[in-house]
Amino acid sequence: MHELSVVASIVESVTELAAAYPGARVLEVRLRVGALASVIEDSLQFCWGITTEGTPLQGSKLTVQTLPVVMHCTACAQDVELQGVQSFRCPRCGEPCSDLRQGRELEIDSIEIDEVEEAI
Ligand SMILES: [Zn+2]
Repeated sequence: MHELSVVASIVESVTELAAAYPGARVLEVRLRVGALASVIEDSLQFCWGITTEGTPLQGSKLTVQTLPVVMHCTACAQDVELQGVQSFRCPRCGEPCSDLRQGRELEIDSIEIDEVEEAI
């Protein structure tokens, strides 16, 4: 499953970032995922539960923000948002576009951690 390796690398990155805050618990991780990144959110969520177990991310929430595909149309001389991923034609003028500006992202947008120190 492609999503499992994606989630594993995200969990690894977040664990490294969270290491700067000893004892902190990760509450939420927000991702930006382009429509062409070929990952399915349900699968990400499923893998998240398995992969975060036993890590500082255990019990954290995964929020996925899906980004639409944006191409630059030379005929219109502007960036256009595609309605789907089936056709790479400009929705305004119908010309084929190949200049991808957004849609392949798969990155961590932000992380929310609980920095409350435990009482000794
Ligand atoms: Zn156009």
